[in-house]
Order: sequence, then C-alpha cells, then structure tokens
Amino acid sequence: MPVDLHTHSRFSDGSDTPTELTATAHSVGLSALALTDHDTQDGIEEARTAGAGLGIEIIPGVEISCEWTPGTLHMVVLFLEPGEGPLQDRLARLQRARATRNDHIVERLNGLGIEITNEEVAEEAGTGVTGRPHIAALLIRKGIAEDMRAAFDEYLGNGRPAYVARERLTPEDSIGLALQSRALPILSHPYTMGLESETQFREAFGYLADLGLAGIDCYYPEYSPDEREALAAVTRSFGMIPSGGSDYHGTYKEGLQLGTGWGDLVVADEVLEELRAARAALPS
Ligand SMILES: [Zn+2]
Ligand SMILES: [Zn+2]
Repeated sequence: MPVDLHTHSRFSDGSDTPTELTATAHSVGLSALALTDHDTQDGIEEARTAGAGLGIEIIPGVEISCEWTPGTLHMVVLFLEPGEGPLQDRLARLQRARATRNDHIVERLNGLGIEITNEEVAEEAGTGVTGRPHIAALLIRKGIAEDMRAAFDEYLGNGRPAYVARERLTPEDSIGLALQSRALPILSHPYTMGLESETQFREAFGYLADLGLAGIDCYYPEYSPDEREALAAVTRSFGMIPSGGSDYHGTYKEGLQLGTGWGDLVVADEVLEELRAARAALPS
C-alpha cells in the first residue's frame, strides 16, 4: 500500500483537521501518513488517535522554512517525536518569536492609524499557527485592503511599512538539530530554491548531504514522472534517500489529492521502510 510523507492540516495552512486527513488517508488506501504542518506538531496527537482507530500509521513530522537565498528552502523533518528535544525546543522558541512578531506587526499598523488589535488577529486565526495571512484577512474584512495581494503590497510584504522580519532556522541548524532529535531531515520541493544550473543543484545537494541531509522529496506532484525519477537518481548519487508526498493542503490546494497528488503520484511503502531503517541507524 502506498504512503504519503508530506501533508498539512488545519494546525498550519491546510483545510482539514488531522482526524479528517487520517480518514481520507484510509479511504484512498494509504498505509501511512506523515503529518508535516509548518512549524508545529500540535496536530500529531489527534492524527495518532484517529490513525490508531483506522489502522493508519502516523509518522510525526514538521515542515520548517529555512533561511536561504536566492529562493525558498523548506525542510520536512520525519520521525520527530512531539515533546521536548533539541529541534522541538527550538521550534517552540520560534513559535513564541512568531507571536511577538505578530504583536509588532499590529503595533506598526496601529502606528499607521489602522485600528486593529491582537485579540482580533487571534480570533481570525482560530486554532492554527497565526501569521501574516490572518492579519491580511482581517485588513480585508475591515475594508482597509482590497485583497490578499493588496494587503501584502501595501502593508505586510517585505520592505512595506508594517513588515517585521521573521526569525528562521538555517539549513545547517535544521539538519543538525533534527539529527540530534533522532529525526530525518528531508529537503522539500527543491525546485523552489532558486537554483538554475545543474552545477548549482549539485553544489547545494552536496553541501546539504555533507551536513547530514537524509533525503529529498523526489516523488512530488509538481514534477513529471520523468523528473521524479531523474531527481531520485541524483539523490541516490549523493547517498541520500528519495522521499515524497503530495504536500496536501485540503481544499486550499484545489484538485490536489492526498496520496496521488494531481493523479499520477505514487509513494511506495518501500520509501517509508528505507527511511525507517535510516532513522533506526541514527546514533541515540
Ligand atoms: Zn513547503
Ligand atoms: Zn508542505
């Protein structure tokens, strides 16, 4: 039975609860599901409870946005047990920094004469990780910005008057802390990294592999089947494991299905078994 090792729930920016996500995994015939919400593991316990009832194995994970130029570097960390630990503690600290950041954004908006309170932002966000999209939604609802794009262009985007920089983990820290936490760091969607030539990709992959990166998301919906196989071969050439998943966000990525992505994705359970063996081989 196939698996899906990259998914999001309501606890970050997906539309489904962990229980709904797990039920969908069951109905589409997956044997295992990694819940990899952005920056939080708050949905893992609920997913595990639902998974236990349905015979779906839940792999605890998280997705981290790392500091990187010129593009975007996301890292999925698999087999990260919620609770205390080197990476877990750092993520908790970042979470607190993020809350402070939201407060600062609200202060700046107030300074621009916009009436908006921390309580309103918290209300808008509900249970999930609160961020700029929630503040933007509030600005739209109050008639201050026309739409999401305007909210970022006029107020919240990089370099705009209410912009406050966000603290991020470096790739070096993410990999190091993940391994110290006996979890596997996996590079997600590498084609967002802003790398262009094959040489640049090889340099980046080689550098990250030397730091201990365990694998790369090769089985990814946005890549053609040929691209997936080519990326898997490159991943292998650096001694890493080709991993993958749908990057499911529920109705927020319309048409994208759990497990199969846009219809042709398969992540074989052998992938999970290989990762499990790699995890078991980490020093304790
Ligand atoms: Zn991502
Ligand atoms: Zn993701």
